[in-house]
Amino acid sequence: MSRRGGTRGVPRASDVSDETSLGRTRRARRIARVLAETYPDAHCELDFTTPLELLVATILSAQSTDARVNIVTPKVFARYPTAADYAAADRAELEELIHSTGFFRAKTNALIGLGQALVERYDGEVPGRLKDLVTLPGVGRKTANVVLGNAFGVPGITVDTHFGRLARRFAWTEQTDPDKVEAEVGVLFPKKDWTMLSHWLIWHGRRCCHARKPACGACPVAALCPAYGEGEVDAAKAAKLLKSEAQVAVSS
Ligand code: SF4
Repeated sequence: MSRRGGTRGVPRASDVSDETSLGRTRRARRIARVLAETYPDAHCELDFTTPLELLVATILSAQSTDARVNIVTPKVFARYPTAADYAAADRAELEELIHSTGFFRAKTNALIGLGQALVERYDGEVPGRLKDLVTLPGVGRKTANVVLGNAFGVPGITVDTHFGRLARRFAWTEQTDPDKVEAEVGVLFPKKDWTMLSHWLIWHGRRCCHARKPACGACPVAALCPAYGEGEVDAAKAAKLLKSEAQVAVSS
């Protein structure tokens, strides 16, 4: 791989266009190692204690923030402790409880339908397999992988908006379809790392590699990133773009 001048050793996009698959894999794993060191506390930011709770929280998190969902879920979890409780929920009451997460009518439909499907087809239990999870109302691959990775310990790649954006900036993929991103990134990493990889990218996307103004000059993986320069490269200005934990907590 050729290098951009100076000591930064930053690969240009043109440098990685002819990167071998082995070269891409090695660079990808180096990036992951740096992110792991940078974000040792990375984890699922939704509060939950059971697979059902995580499934519900993940459905509620669509078009909302994890912080908002974590405010709402204690009352929801207490009121509906089992799948049967969601199946039998009073629509107006559930809508009111989840109202502040947005799209509350669609989410209420999904949660009642989810409860019914779990009771009818899975004895009220959340299934631990992707092919079963994606048949449930309101559950796509992203939600299924969140639940598998974080509640069942089954490795899964969660392609949300951050993960997709960063995977493309890293030139791990050019795909925009989340399923294709998942497939192309999946081959670069051992399966056992998939869940943590998802957390590292999402944490980096929330704190540093923002959609509009990435903080390239303050980025720990700048030397390995072909998109270096898409954002602010001046170190002092870039440092101001970084989001603190408190800022992330209210905006993510
Ligand atoms: S902040 Fe810049 S250098 Fe860092 S990962 Fe994002 S685009 Fe690449």
